Parts: sequence; C-alpha cells; structure tokens
Amino acid sequence: MTLPLNLAINTVAVIGAGTMGIGIAQVAASAGLRVLLFDVNQEVLRHSLTEMTQRLNKRVEQGKAQAVATKEMLNCISVAQSLPELSEAQLVIEAVAEKLEVKQTIFSELEGICNEKTIFASNTSSLSITAIGRQLTHPERLAGLHFFNPAPVMKLVEVIRGLETSDTVIKQLKELTLSFGKVPVICRSTPGFIVNRVARPFYAETMRALEEQIASPATLDSAIRDAGGFAMGPLQLTDLIGHDVNYAVTESVFQAFGYDPRFQTSLMQLELVQAGHLGRKSKQGFYHYDDNKPQPLPLVAEKIHLDQPLNIKAHGDWQIFPEFAQLLTENGISLEGLTQHSEQFPTLIVNDVIIMLTNGELASSHTQIQKQAVVHFDLSANYLTAKAITISCAAQNNTQQNQQAIAFFQSLGKHVIVLPDYPALLTMRTVAMLCNEALDIVNKGIATALDTDNAMCFGVNYPKGPLAWGIQLGWQRVLSVLENLAQFYGDSRYRPNPLLRQLAAGYQSLSFKEQP
Ligand code: NAD
Repeated sequence: MTLPLNLAINTVAVIGAGTMGIGIAQVAASAGLRVLLFDVNQEVLRHSLTEMTQRLNKRVEQGKAQAVATKEMLNCISVAQSLPELSEAQLVIEAVAEKLEVKQTIFSELEGICNEKTIFASNTSSLSITAIGRQLTHPERLAGLHFFNPAPVMKLVEVIRGLETSDTVIKQLKELTLSFGKVPVICRSTPGFIVNRVARPFYAETMRALEEQIASPATLDSAIRDAGGFAMGPLQLTDLIGHDVNYAVTESVFQAFGYDPRFQTSLMQLELVQAGHLGRKSKQGFYHYDDNKPQPLPLVAEKIHLDQPLNIKAHGDWQIFPEFAQLLTENGISLEGLTQHSEQFPTLIVNDVIIMLTNGELASSHTQIQKQAVVHFDLSANYLTAKAITISCAAQNNTQQNQQAIAFFQSLGKHVIVLPDYPALLTMRTVAMLCNEALDIVNKGIATALDTDNAMCFGVNYPKGPLAWGIQLGWQRVLSVLENLAQFYGDSRYRPNPLLRQLAAGYQSLSFKEQP
C-alpha cells in the first residue's frame, strides 16, 4: 500500500538536540516552520538551546542578524518532553546517535504515535536507509535527510532514497529543503552516499604521498591548496575533522565495498588514531597545535635569477586551461599555431626543456623516451589565481635545466613547489580519482551527474565538480592518467571506471540536466 503523502509541512519534529539536531531545528525554524525538539537527555536539550540562543543573540549584537527575526525564529522552537508529544508533526527528522538499533526503535515507536501521512527522515551519515526502515510497516515514508555540519551554514542536503522510499516523499523533501535555501541532491542509499564516498581519494592520495615520503605535510597540503585550488589541504582538513571520525568513515566505506583497494585505509592515519593524536581537538595530528609555535611552512624553491632570457614555445591543447593561456599571453608568450583539438597534454618548450602537464607517467620515463629534459607540472583549478605551482623534474635533467623550469614559473608570479618525480603529482592524481569515483556513482544510477557535482561543491566546497573538471580536462586525458597510475603501482586502486572508458572513446556523453 502506498501512503497518500501530499500534505503541506508546517510542523517539524527534530529528535536529538546534539550538534546536528539543534542546527537542523534552527534551519527549519528560520524558514518559519514550527519545530518540536526532543532529546532523551533534557539536560543536553536545555544546554543546546541556551548555547544557540546566546550564539544568535551575539550575531544580533554584532549587527549580523536582525533582533525581531531572531526572536521570531527562536519562538518557533518548542521543547517536547516525550515522543508522543511529536504526534502533530508532518515530518520527523531524527538526529540521534549513529546506531542502527536506536534509530530503528525510534521510528518503530513513532509509527504508533504519528499520523500515517507523517514523513520520517534520518540524518544518518553512514547507515543504510533501507536497513533503518526495515522494521516499519510503511518503510516508503522513510528517507535520509543528510545535513552537513554546521547545518545552518552548509548548503548541501543529501536526500537519500531507501529501497522502499516513495517518490512522493523524495519530492516533498526536495521541495522542503529548497524552501530552506539549501541545495538538495537526490541519492540512492549506498555506503557513504555521494559526498562521503566520492571524497575518499581526496584524503587517501595525499596520505599515500606522505607515506611514500614525497614531502612534508605542510608541502603536500600546499600543493593541493595553494597550487591545486582546494580550500584546504587534506592533512590539515583531517586534523580539523578528527582522525577518529575521518578514519571511521573511510573504514566503513572500505568494508562496505568488500575491501576494494579504491577505499584502502591509511596505516599512517590508523597509527594517529591509536596514539590518540586525533588532530586539533587533541592538539596533535599531522601537525602539532601549540599556541606559542608557528605552523611549519611549505618548502618552495628559492628565487632563481637567470643571466639570459628564456626562449619559450607552447604546444598542445591550451584551450582546456583558459586561465593558464591568459597567464601566458599576459606574460608575452604566444599561443599561436596551437593544435586546438589535440589530445596532447598542454606542453611548453622552455629553452631545451619540455614542460608538460603530468599525464600519470614519471617525468624520467618521458626523458628516457624523448631524449630531452622533461619537467611535469600539476593540475590546478585556476592557474591564474593559484599562488603556487607544483612541478617534478626527470632524474636525468641537469641542475641548469631544472632551474630554467623553476625560473619560468617564478616569472609568472608563482611559488614553485618541487616534488620528487611522482606520477600524476598530487592534484592531478586526486582529481582523476575523484572523477573516477563520481563516474561510478553516475554509472550505477546512484545520483545524476548534476547532483554528484553539486554534492561535492556544496558539501565539501570543492573548487569544481569532479565531473565538470573531467569534462574540462577531457576524458581521454583522465583515462590516461589513471591507466598510467594503475600500471605504475600495479594495483587495482586506479582501475578506470567502465563509464570513463566509454566517455573517453566518445561512445557516451554525460548529461547535466536536472531530473524531472
Ligand atoms: P550528538 O552526539 O551531538 O547528538 C546526539 C543527541 O541524540 C544527543 O543529544 C543524545 O542525547 C540524543 N539521543 C541519543 N539517543 C536518543 C534517543 N533514543 N532519543 C532521543 N534523543 C537521543 O550527535 P550528532 O553529531 O548531532 O549526530 C547525530 C546524527 O547526525 C548521527 O546519525 C550522525 O551520524 C549524523 N551526522 C553527524 C554529523 C556531524 O558532523 N556531527 C554530520 C552529518 C550527520
């Protein structure tokens, strides 16, 4: 039997007044809905409400919020002493501890309390919505509504469809979250949903580079942040999230996918957890947090002064990087006569040195084949605004050749991070893996291309959606990078997704249309 879920939502119950519950209550109340807030621990509930009130009043004092609107919003929230008091709600959002049995029990009890039209939603970040709904008489009324922390600030909400969830429920939750000013994305209930799954390589690739002793944490973070264009480096970010939390998410996804090497956990991160070095909250993680000591700086090349001007020629398809092309033309480097549709990686010849976008091979292998000095440069979300550029030099190059490459990038106003010869450097390998994972989501019908990219831009603030980035690079290039990495490492972690092969061959294309 399908329930007639066509009601307008004006009262929302929120169960659990911890970090997420109180934030969700604020979001719903800010949209003018009546909110009934319940927590098994009334002490926590009172504390959370007091803290929220103080925080909002401070914003009023600072002129960042209006007194009347804030008061009205706070008046929308009332406290419930027990579950039966939630019977009037048309939507119940559960944000209690991440335990399957606890969530199942709450919803089973609610079925006996609430109207048969009431929609049930769980804010779970890792449990299966299908499993949470298993004991319900009407599992079609249950969906996931995954807000991100802090809920009032973060735009993304993953609306999760369990095996039994009805289309009407998904549609209503999408409309409701839109009315909250959020960006809802619809996703099937699978491990990690969209964000917590697609983001795994963001952390994993840099942790792998650290394990392989490629550079210090500060230098690796800078390569992703200052050169790559991400808001934070993966090591500083996991220090902020907490290694216990971040490791547990990776481990649960790794386990759920049958220990697929794509989601391999990091032994280095496990050891941090075992040592209690959980990041900022324990004052030690990849970095030490001591108020009296400055954080370590990334290693960048010293300024090089050349006696003679450089002779520079450009080759390959620079149209894929309009900002880099602009940077070159602004610096008087002609881009005329380039092959616009070539599948070649963008390349410059600086004196006798080939400077090429990394394609996942070693620079030394290129030198071996081309019998010419080769320097690879890494991917960036925006070469014009990036403060730094990451490069690696072939082992066969002499010092002068490497200095010419460094001096060239310095002449474009960039700090130069020189990594050892490392295939696909750091941002390129990370982005190629993000593309691969995002394509797996689309290939398996878990979410649309548009929702997958939106999830990564609004859930974890990536500078570009992985799929839009893949299109910009060209699927053939993304495929080459992964194939080269797979060959270099000889493990299946980098195996290209079947959809990537089809896109690279031109047999398919991605649609970014919104689903009706
Ligand atoms: P929390 O520990 O801060 O709060 C949980 C609250 O639930 C506590 O106040 C607790 O007293 C209450 N509670 C526990 N059992 C209850 C019950 N049976 N009935 C009523 N209240 C009960 O936890 P949180 O960080 O807010 O996480 C809540 C949920 O949101 C979890 O499922 C978590 O996975 C998910 N989530 C958390 C985050 C995050 O960053 N913290 C982000 C997204 C999703």
